[in-house]
Amino acid sequence: MRMLNYKGEPLMEEIVGRDLKIALKRGWRRKCPNCGRGSMMESYLVVRQTCSKCGQELFHHRADDGPAYLTVLIVGHLMAPALLYVYTKWRPEPLTMLFIFGIGCLGLSLYLLPRLKGAIVAFQWAKKLQGFA
Ligand SMILES: [Zn+2]
Repeated sequence: MRMLNYKGEPLMEEIVGRDLKIALKRGWRRKCPNCGRGSMMESYLVVRQTCSKCGQELFHHRADDGPAYLTVLIVGHLMAPALLYVYTKWRPEPLTMLFIFGIGCLGLSLYLLPRLKGAIVAFQWAKKLQGFA
């Protein structure tokens, strides 16, 4: 049976199989890894049960602590050297450092977390890793 999206176009799986690179890009944009049109998230971090456009089931993909781990890893590796550089170069006041890097860490974390969750769910989809549901 041929699977089509809402426009009548074949889904990615019909064309090229489950391409990891395409799926990761779609997941990063928080779109369905299968069709790339439907939204993967129903709120900031909650993954939809199914895609609203193609009906792809997404409920069995569980990212668990992966996105949080990757977010901390990336934010830490970006902000720690920046903090050291700024401190050794300009020696700003501690409250200034706290304010700037606190907002920087918070903003970067809030930006990365849902995108990394989308990418992890898309990775699981592309590799056909399904949890128990
Ligand atoms: Zn979809």
